Order: sequence, then structure tokens, then C-alpha cells
Amino acid sequence: METQVLKITDIEKDGALLDEAAALLREGQLVAIPTETVYGLAADALNPKAAAAIYQAKGRPSDNPLIVHVSSLEEIPPLVKQVPPQLKQLAEAFWPGPMTVVMEKSPLIPSTTSGGLETVAVRMPAHPIARALIQRSGRSLAAPSANLSGLPSPTTAQHCVEDLTGRVAAIVDGGPCQVGVESTVLTLCTQPPKILRPGAVTLEMLRKVLPDIQLDEGVFEHLSDDRKVASPGMKYKHYAPKARVILVRGTLEQFQEFLRHQREEYGVLCFEEDVPALNARCVTYGKEQDPASQAHALFDALRRLDKEGFSLVYARITGEEGVGQAVYNRLLRAAAFDEIQL
Ligand code: AMP
Ligand code: MG
Repeated sequence: METQVLKITDIEKDGALLDEAAALLREGQLVAIPTETVYGLAADALNPKAAAAIYQAKGRPSDNPLIVHVSSLEEIPPLVKQVPPQLKQLAEAFWPGPMTVVMEKSPLIPSTTSGGLETVAVRMPAHPIARALIQRSGRSLAAPSANLSGLPSPTTAQHCVEDLTGRVAAIVDGGPCQVGVESTVLTLCTQPPKILRPGAVTLEMLRKVLPDIQLDEGVFEHLSDDRKVASPGMKYKHYAPKARVILVRGTLEQFQEFLRHQREEYGVLCFEEDVPALNARCVTYGKEQDPASQAHALFDALRRLDKEGFSLVYARITGEEGVGQAVYNRLLRAAAFDEIQL
């Protein structure tokens, strides 16, 4: 399949390109699209064939459900069994934006889209191109991250080109994603509600609307394989570079000392300001005191580790404030939960 790259520089002037992408989506084709979190691999959420094609293009296990993206609240009632009472307040506080809400699904949602579950995950993205494509196609769009399954999520159109050329009809290039990690996923199907995946909408922010919300135990812990994961996308190893990644928690001085004792060849994933102090090949992911910069840089950094050809990587981690929890959640999976405390 030939993959077109449609570069949008001005959402008004490039309306013809948006219409082209919207027409492909209406036909049931796959289009990678920018959102404020990461690039999504979009298709008509209510067309079972289109949804099945997403799994095939990504090599995604069929039990890992897709997030359905809408551009207005009016699109939601037909997609769910009933609109939960908490949704209105959540939407007022965090939509459009990086929050996904799991609710009981209506029969309109094909089981391919819901990964065989009786629930559906819904998000209203903020990115103007994502919103324009939902509106112009007239479809709710299923859109998991536009990477090959298991690899780091794409935060630039170039990442999508690397993973999906020949597998999708088009890639819409809207520049780098602002947030850089996937949306916060929470479920309203449990009592109390739970965060299944941390993102830029943090636990502290959500508590203001849902005071009893909890973090699912799978967020920071490796659940044994026989335990049922609440969010199938949060499995053990994910976002993984080819290198073996080991998380190392400690100060810069402790990290320097730790590296001095390593005999095997290694690369380092660290903060920008660490580089001058480390006599090592470094890839950086933002600044230590700025978790938003870490989120923004993380997935590109994980991809760069492979480009550097490292087979072993020590990743420096420190505290987890705000969106730092989401960064740590992704790093744990990139490292298959391998962490050393100095
Ligand atoms: P992705 O869009 O690639 O970031 O993956 C979607 C994420 O949302 C995965 O972690 C899924 O497991 C999660 N998800 C989607 N639908 C549901 C659902 N119905 N219940 C629980 N988790 C879901
Ligand atoms: Mg994904």
C-alpha cells in the first residue's frame, strides 16, 4: 500500500488536505493523525473492518481495546449504555484534553473496537487537527497510538513514517505532539473509580472532581501474568527499545559512582543537565525539575536509544511529581520493571 504524507501547516489554508484525510477515514481506511498526547492511528470506530485493520497494521493483540475519539459531548450517548453522572463534571474540567474515560459500551461499538470487552474508552482530544478530522469525516475515530505494537509511541510524523509506511493510507503531519505521553485512562465502571494509566491529567487533578478515585495497582506494580489486567495495554513489557533498559534511582553523584563500577559497554538515558558530568554516551529526556519536559521528550529518546545501537542502557530517574508519574509508568515498562535504588 502506498502511504501519503499530508503536511498541515495551516489548518485553514490546508483544508483540502484535511478533506482528503477525512474522505479516507469515511471509506474505512487508516490514517495516522496528530493529537496533543501522541500520534494516533485513526479509523472509523463504528466500522468493524476498519477497526480490525488497525490491529493488523500495528500488530496489536486483539484483546487490547482502542480509544474512541469524539469532538463533542453529543457524540457520546449513542456510544455508551448510559452516560455516567460524573461524566459532565469530568468533561467540564478536562475536555478537550488528555483524559480518557472508560464506560459501559452500547451495542453500536463493535467488539473489535472494544477488544472484546463490554466497556468502551472515550476521549475528546484538544488538538485542532484531530478535532477537524473527526468533524470533517463525521465519524468517531478509534485511534490507538500510531506505533508498531510494543515500540515507543510516536510523537512526530517521522516516527509514524518509520513504523507505518506501507501499512496505512496516509499520515497527517501536524508537527511534534505537545504532551508526549498518552492520555490518562480512568474507569467509571468500578466503585470507586480508578486510574488505569497515568497521563498529563494527574491523580491530584482528578481528585478535585472524583475525591475517591484510586490508582489501579497495575500502574506501578508488575502484576503476575495470571492476574487479570484492568487495562490490557498496561502489560509487563511495552514502549521497549531493543536495548535492555535498567532504571537507576539516585542523585547525579550516586549515578556517576554507579557508572564507574560498570564493566559492560552501556549507554545512558539521563536529564539534559546531567550530560557534562557524565563521561558516557548519553541520550536525554528533558530536565530533572521539569516533568512536562520529560514527558515531551521521552518517546523520542527511547527511539534514539535504538538509533545509537545500545544493547544496555542505564536510565537515571529521580522523583515523580505530576506528569512525572506517567513518565515513570512508561519507563517501568520500557525497562520491564528492572529498577535499582542507589
Ligand atoms: P493506546 O491508544 O495505544 O494508548 O492504547 C489504549 C489504552 O487504553 C490501552 O492501554 C488500553 O488498554 C486502554 N483501554 C482502551 N479501552 C479500554 C477499556 N474498555 N477498558 C480498559 N482499558 C481500556
Ligand atoms: Mg499504545
